[in-house]
Amino acid sequence: KLGNATAKAELGRATWKYFHTVMARFPEKPTEDQQDALRSYIHLFARLYPCGECAEHFQQHLNKYPPQVSSRNAAAGWACFIHNEVNAMLEKPEFDCTNLGAFYDCGCAEDEAKGDD
Ligand code: FAD
Repeated sequence: KLGNATAKAELGRATWKYFHTVMARFPEKPTEDQQDALRSYIHLFARLYPCGECAEHFQQHLNKYPPQVSSRNAAAGWACFIHNEVNAMLEKPEFDCTNLGAFYDCGCAEDEAKGDD
């Protein structure tokens, strides 16, 4: 039982790290196609999340709070908000979403317009 809880928490931490990093790297001015891709991705992510109980809850959260995909800021802010919904459900402290800034820097800056940073 404890082993299960530990594995579930580890999966969650790794997944949230990845999830927020995707948002932090989403284009600031996404095309329609990029917005569609992120929206589809989030819905499929929720359906396929390997912890069944978590996937169930998360799909309910998505129905209530549909993904915001109009810009990087919108997507990152939405993801922070939805993670806070999960935090609240699990009685964890709320994360301050104004601190997102450098928190999810993947070290991928060289992929951006070459040479600016
Ligand atoms: P986590 O919640 O894993 O967060 C990791 C780190 O992210 C934190 O230490 C903090 O630095 C940062 N962080 C915290 N909040 C935010 C935020 N709002 N925005 C950005 N960064 C933040 N567990 C269950 O028991 N039941 C469930 O139903 C369940 N559903 C889940 C659904 C999904 C989609 C995911 C990805 C995970 C789910 N989990 C669920 C796992 C749970 O959310 C945690 O990942 C796990 O309990 C470990 O928690 P933690 O305290 O280490 O921090």
